[in-house]
Amino acid sequence: MSSNKIILSESEMPNAWYNIIPDLPSPMTPYLKPDGSIIGPADLAPLFPMELIKQEVSPERWIEIPDEVKEIIRIWRPSPLHRAFNLEKELKTPARIYFKNEGVSPSGSHKTNTAVAQAYYNKKEGVTRIATETGAGQWGSALSYACKHFGLECTVYMVKVSYEQKPYRRILMETFGAKVHPSPTKLTKVGREILKNDPDCTGSLGIAISEAVEDAATHDDTKYSLGSVLNHVILHQTIMGLELKKQLQIAGEKPDMIIACVGGGSNFGGFTFPFVAEKLKGSNIRLIAVEPTSCPSLTKGQYRYDYGDTGKMAPIAKMYTLGHDFVPPGIHAGGLRYHGASPLVSMLKDKKVIEAISYPQNPCFEAAVLFARTEGFLPAPETSHAIKAAIDEAIKCAKTKEEKCIVIGFSGHGHFDLTAYERFLSGKLEDYEYPESKIEKALKNLPNIEPKM
Ligand SMILES: *Cc1c(COP(=O)(O)O)cnc(C)c1O
Repeated sequence: MSSNKIILSESEMPNAWYNIIPDLPSPMTPYLKPDGSIIGPADLAPLFPMELIKQEVSPERWIEIPDEVKEIIRIWRPSPLHRAFNLEKELKTPARIYFKNEGVSPSGSHKTNTAVAQAYYNKKEGVTRIATETGAGQWGSALSYACKHFGLECTVYMVKVSYEQKPYRRILMETFGAKVHPSPTKLTKVGREILKNDPDCTGSLGIAISEAVEDAATHDDTKYSLGSVLNHVILHQTIMGLELKKQLQIAGEKPDMIIACVGGGSNFGGFTFPFVAEKLKGSNIRLIAVEPTSCPSLTKGQYRYDYGDTGKMAPIAKMYTLGHDFVPPGIHAGGLRYHGASPLVSMLKDKKVIEAISYPQNPCFEAAVLFARTEGFLPAPETSHAIKAAIDEAIKCAKTKEEKCIVIGFSGHGHFDLTAYERFLSGKLEDYEYPESKIEKALKNLPNIEPKM
């Protein structure tokens, strides 16, 4: 009988992160200021510790993981790779389905991988407080945990709709010792401005980012930390894909498709980038990014320079974007409500190295419930997008009798999302239309900025 799960020992945990930059099909697009000039390390120094700024643009393919970081992440790493036998049986598919479970981390998702690394570099460079944003609360809880470990204070601007929908995530952050504010707040200039125009604003990741960036930029002892999108965040997340590679080798598998959901793109990037080199060499492996229909940056956005945040405080990046002032509907997959996507993931989408698809939330919850009933693990609403896509592919295999190997990035558990499950189970979960007119409007506000050479 083939294995139910493939577990690596602690000593088999990767010693270095994989940096895709030297292997990209074309040079990395630079970050810009509003006048089109290129942002350099000195411009980023008020926001990030120097080591992370170096990693952001590093030409090195392998970057060693510090011992202090390994010591913590090995608490839950390497994460297990499971074979979803019961789901396969239920779907009557000849496909072999695997899922790598990042829900085993202390905060319940993949985000803890980068949170620990980022807190470590901040601590090492004398920072005493980190300000950040959080959508559903996954990133905030990961960073709160990591900050507590290194004795740093943590201030979290939490998107208001999630703050209200998901009180347990807030309580978890507070339990780890963080200070949590519903964003937009009156604590920042950008927050006050937004509330003046729209007192009932439910917030967005773009707004919360602006608030956290302003907080860091206006306090000397404080730096900012981002849970996704940026190159160094994806770098830290490649530990998932590197472990997956070893695990698939042990299982004797060559994956046909690797599927992961995309918010800012660090989960997808971290999971799939270690497989991009073989794809570029001509392998027909499919790397599939899944996003919500209500926030479809990769499938409906434009590949253009745009602000990373609503308040135009963050650098301008070339990425698939719906426009920096697009506020997506309040879907339960709060972690997927970002108007843009990582520049690295965007470039690979533009070059057709990866593919992207989108689903509304009801079919995703249906897939999540089927997964829970067969495999027992309860997926986060974000994760359910990858599961839905994998199930659809496995059903195709059942029709064509193809024995494909499908791997799912199980990015996190849904134990704090039971209100959303309750709404789904009682038939009350709304499916938002694709917000075409709102996106059209936001796309009109894209800045016309190109790099000044
Ligand atoms: C944040 C989150 C995502 C999205 O991650 P990105 O790296 O921003 O794309 C996916 N799944 C879970 C469980 C999350 O918490």
